[in-house]
Amino acid sequence: MVKSLKETIKEAEENGVAVGHFNISDTEGLNAIFNAARNLNVPVIIGVSEGEREFIGVKQVAALVKSLRDEHDYPIYLNADHTYSFEKIQEVVDAGYDAVIFDGTKLPLEENISLAKQTVEYTKGKKSLNGEEILVEAELGYIGASSKLLDEIPEGAEITSDKLVKPEDAKSFIDATGVDMLAPAVGNLHGMLKNANNPALDIERIKAIRETTGVPLVLHGGSGITDEDFQKAIKAGIGVVHINTAIRKAYKEGIKDAFEENPDDIAPYRFLSEGVEDMQKVVERYLKLFNFLT
Ligand SMILES: [Zn+2]
Repeated sequence: MVKSLKETIKEAEENGVAVGHFNISDTEGLNAIFNAARNLNVPVIIGVSEGEREFIGVKQVAALVKSLRDEHDYPIYLNADHTYSFEKIQEVVDAGYDAVIFDGTKLPLEENISLAKQTVEYTKGKKSLNGEEILVEAELGYIGASSKLLDEIPEGAEITSDKLVKPEDAKSFIDATGVDMLAPAVGNLHGMLKNANNPALDIERIKAIRETTGVPLVLHGGSGITDEDFQKAIKAGIGVVHINTAIRKAYKEGIKDAFEENPDDIAPYRFLSEGVEDMQKVVERYLKLFNFLT
């Protein structure tokens, strides 16, 4: 019997490792991530943003992930990544996702709190397709919004210490909303800077927030963070790490190579395979890092 997502994250934290969360736009991405996780025998979370899940099918992606989980008796989970409205929250909760992220970081704080609370209330008593409690994650502090290659840090997401989340504010947020997990701004940034490493993480702050709030923390915008910072952040209290930009890049470049090698090939299962292989390699590298297997 596969453990619940809640149990899996708790166990990861106890072992001083983190669960990898990777986004997909299609079944090829799903296969790349599942193969990578199985090769290393570690649990994995599949993430789909509002745009990504609309492309695959909101209910269809839930059925796909459940089918892998059931057929292989494997700890693979589905998370509705950054969801901005209550209507979209209802949609994924009703579709039986394992977890959902309400992202109210662009709203005034009171609205962020009230919608996060509404999400928790709606989710309570509902079950995932696997018959388990659906976890709710919320976001605090703005870290930019897109998984792409950036020329510079987006406006409003500049890293100054007054913008990073304070442990006592995180605690009041958790108390007011009742969410299961929190993604605080701790120096991380969505997307990847083209010509530089992303800014460094505030490790002491992660530690203080984890201790003060008592809930698992999630690190977003992982694609541009250094290996050393990742492992320090995990030891300080990060239980889940999100990667999207780096695997999107690998997927695209793999497909591009395939077209360059065989310009006349029109069989999608062949040219997409190179994208899958390249993506899988990147996912494996991150999973090794997050699970301290290197
Ligand atoms: Zn994110």
